[in-house]
Amino acid sequence: MADGTGNAASHVDVVVVGAGFAGLYALYRLRRLGLNIRLLEAGEGVGGTWYWNRYPAARCDTESLQYSYQFSEELQQDWAWSERYATQPEIERYLNHVADRFDLRRDIRLGTLVESIVLDEPAARWTVTTSDGGRTVARYCVMATGCLSSPLTPRFEGLESFAGPTYHTARWPREKIDFTGQRVGVLGTGSSAMQAIPLIAEQASQLTVFQRSANYAVPAWNAPLDAGYLAWFKANYVENRKRAKKLVSGFLCYYNPQTSFEVSAADREREYEKRWREGGIGYLAAFSDITTNDEANRLASDFVHRKIRSIVEDPAIAEMLIPNSVIGCKRLCVHAGYYATYNRPNVALIDVKANPVERVTPTGVVVAGREYPVDALVLATGFDAMTGALNKIDIRGRSGLSLKEKWAEGPRAYLGVASAGFPNLFIITGPGSPSVLTNMVPTIEQHVDFIAGCIDHVEAGGYGAIEPEVAAEDAWVAYNDEVAHRTLRYECASWYLGANVPGKKRVFMPFVAGLPAYIRKCDEVVAAGYAGFILAPVQQKAMGAL
Ligand code: NAP
Repeated sequence: MADGTGNAASHVDVVVVGAGFAGLYALYRLRRLGLNIRLLEAGEGVGGTWYWNRYPAARCDTESLQYSYQFSEELQQDWAWSERYATQPEIERYLNHVADRFDLRRDIRLGTLVESIVLDEPAARWTVTTSDGGRTVARYCVMATGCLSSPLTPRFEGLESFAGPTYHTARWPREKIDFTGQRVGVLGTGSSAMQAIPLIAEQASQLTVFQRSANYAVPAWNAPLDAGYLAWFKANYVENRKRAKKLVSGFLCYYNPQTSFEVSAADREREYEKRWREGGIGYLAAFSDITTNDEANRLASDFVHRKIRSIVEDPAIAEMLIPNSVIGCKRLCVHAGYYATYNRPNVALIDVKANPVERVTPTGVVVAGREYPVDALVLATGFDAMTGALNKIDIRGRSGLSLKEKWAEGPRAYLGVASAGFPNLFIITGPGSPSVLTNMVPTIEQHVDFIAGCIDHVEAGGYGAIEPEVAAEDAWVAYNDEVAHRTLRYECASWYLGANVPGKKRVFMPFVAGLPAYIRKCDEVVAAGYAGFILAPVQQKAMGAL
């Protein structure tokens, strides 16, 4: 079969889009079903998030021993993580090792941007068109495009006139960038900025941070992994993974079942302090009601406010760094020396909430009529989360309806993995999946296993297609929204809600009831013969045409 340009379209069973944690495991797992797979990846290397986000000090704030695959016991025993939290280069090396170890590269096309995915309805075939003019026809599509992979660059007036280099944290160049002796401006104070700022401050002659909202951060206390702990963890890997799956976030940490009000004020303070000293996002598990009860949240927030005041020497700067939102509503950040960085004489913090950035000039950033001169600009301005990467691709399902149009009033996907009207198209960690509220890697593995099960069921049953029932999808979306409203999640302008993207419908996108509830639901769906999914017979005529 040839297209209008004379290029032959190739045929495979499955196209996987994206070569991050999700895409690599999908390729490995679906191969085991005997399927013929092609993985298409825009980047020039594998790694997904860990290929693109190579900004200074980028590292994962989920502990390395848990932020890793468990599908291969040999892999998890052989790989030696070096620190409590792995750096971007170490995770990128790990994913390259996985690609080599499992011989994945032969089915991966790097540097290949997917532009459209269009359904041939009667045949239930997807035509995937790429920027190089290539076309691949597939029976199944698996979107492993990531939740935080579509970088957001606000439309600052004059940005293109800036004479110096501009770097987005999520599109950082591969070569080393040295800011020594330069005046650097950083826009944004989320997780990426908080990691990059201390390192940039050490190099730059002057660092000016432009902050719209202060964010909560707890210390990481990163360190090389203790040999004894590493040995214990590896000896108990399987058991540890099982225990983690029973926890709401999918990673091991002690969830205190007590509420904030069952203990004395002194004990409460001791618990906060203990969590602070342990480091990491387990701070939110100090008491069971921190993310659901206003007063419990205020108490936990207040502890962090006091910590910020104790670290930051200039009281006015400390007040600027204290968030006025509830803790855990936006993603809790994990930092290494972020607050103390503001004690350096070469670091300035500028509020751009009261006075938003007016414009960027060739030589600086103008706020409230004053230009702050900078030689280089770092945009740590985040992502069009959960839907951004999918919406960049022209995905057209039944009757030519695009996924973007279908999701205009908020994304709709059954279990976060499939959307009605898009048969045989699966999304790994799509909206409606616990994804970004959990340890991503085990959640990804669960999704891929579930999707592999769906495909296997279709193949073994001699069906042609599988897609969600509209009613099941509606019920899932409604349930997630209802649970999200029971938490404090709607009380801030977070990217979980799409509030950081002008014009985006505000809907709480990730599944909020936790990993165990999600797994239970998926298991029930499978046990009931894929309840909530429609299984369609093979269209003989269309099959013959191929
Ligand atoms: P982010 O959390 O969305 O932060 C973006 C920052 O840019 C915010 O401070 C935001 O302010 C600011 N901003 C956006 N538009 C602006 C504008 N027009 N003017 C001024 N400021 C503007 O993005 P991120 O830091 O890249 O992190 C995103 C997510 O990626 C994290 O929440 C986390 O889930 C993940 N991540 C994880 C790690 C890790 O594991 N260590 C590291 C980095 C990222 P507002 O807050 O006012 O919107």
